[in-house]
Amino acid sequence: MSGTARKNEIEVEARASQLDAEYVLPTYNRLPLQIVSGRGTEVVGADGRTYLDFVTGLSVNNFGHCHPRVVAAVREQVGRLIHCSNLFLTEPQARVAARLSGLAGGGRVFFSNSGAEANECALKIARKRGTETGGGRIVFVEHSFHGRTIGTLSATGQPSKQAPFGLPLPGYQMVPRHDADALRASFAAGGVAAFIAEPVQGESGVHPLGAEYLQEAETLCRENDAIFIMDEIQTGLGRCGAPFAYQRYGLNPDVVTLAKSLAGGLPIGATIARNAAANVLTAGDHGTTFGGGPVPGAAALVVLDLLEEPGLFARVEQAGRRLEGWLQRLVDKGAAETVRRLGLMVATDLVEPIAREIVTTGIQEGVLVNATSEVTLRFLPPLTVSDEEIDRVGEFLWRHLGDGRQ
Ligand SMILES: *Cc1c(COP(=O)(O)O)cnc(C)c1O
Repeated sequence: MSGTARKNEIEVEARASQLDAEYVLPTYNRLPLQIVSGRGTEVVGADGRTYLDFVTGLSVNNFGHCHPRVVAAVREQVGRLIHCSNLFLTEPQARVAARLSGLAGGGRVFFSNSGAEANECALKIARKRGTETGGGRIVFVEHSFHGRTIGTLSATGQPSKQAPFGLPLPGYQMVPRHDADALRASFAAGGVAAFIAEPVQGESGVHPLGAEYLQEAETLCRENDAIFIMDEIQTGLGRCGAPFAYQRYGLNPDVVTLAKSLAGGLPIGATIARNAAANVLTAGDHGTTFGGGPVPGAAALVVLDLLEEPGLFARVEQAGRRLEGWLQRLVDKGAAETVRRLGLMVATDLVEPIAREIVTTGIQEGVLVNATSEVTLRFLPPLTVSDEEIDRVGEFLWRHLGDGRQ
């Protein structure tokens, strides 16, 4: 790169961060990196450097950045029809619905544009059915994350995120994590409309809720005519080594919500309503202008094809184990306390509160990882990550938390 070109890039980067600081609402603590392009597991910064990306847009670009088949399908679709509203039928939406229903073993789908909206639809199903069955309460789990709208934030088990907005709304009840007795007591009080949980809590640092607890929750829902909702927005579509994480726990949810990776990086949300939940919403009950548009639809069809590639789930498990191996070395070394994992959804709790420092050091050394707290590092590499890429991140961690630090 010539000196002038480099100088221009630096100016462009400075300009964008100035505009961001001045004109974008300051709701995000930005990391010190501006990204301009991506391919596979790598992104390129405005500084011209290449970074190995184990954040993956927060489990969105699960088949890598700018997957050629996603790019081709989107290009083709934007040249044909971008939008026409849900007053009219478009083929990609109908085909994605059929594919998702097939993956989930039955059900009907409502499309939206984000995870929060996918859960909002699930909560509307629960509340409407509750008005018919006398169930007025939504039960959710401590440390969960279901979105930032008023409704979904009410069901998000993080009081610090709720309090500034006077939430939760009436009719939402938090139960402690991993506590089946508390769950039984909550149902015993009567009037439960629904139970909502992530099979593996993502945002709070990869906490699998486990088969036993969730099976109990499902049984309680059945016994009390309540709706069992699995938020698979982060765990679904291969991330946990299966189409849905609930399948690894042998569950049969009434509602499954999806978003993040479904459209290869384009905004989409999907709410799969099954069993008793499938016939609750009728014409006029719900809607959205953009939901299920043909462009994200075309991308989703490619993602669903990629998800069917033979050997994918076995590879996810194998890659997850390899990454876990590196983290286990940190535990053995006394630098980390635990490793938690399902498939390629992986986290470790460090002994010292330096997770955010590791993230910043990673940026300096060309490795992107995520911290969910002062001690927790979360890893969400693309499902297509190679052993060599895992080892590069493992070696980075080992340099700073293992041998390098003794
Ligand atoms: C990301 C996420 C959401 C919210 O999705 P948005 O698209 O940000 O609204 C909800 N639930 C879970 C489990 C998530 O990981």
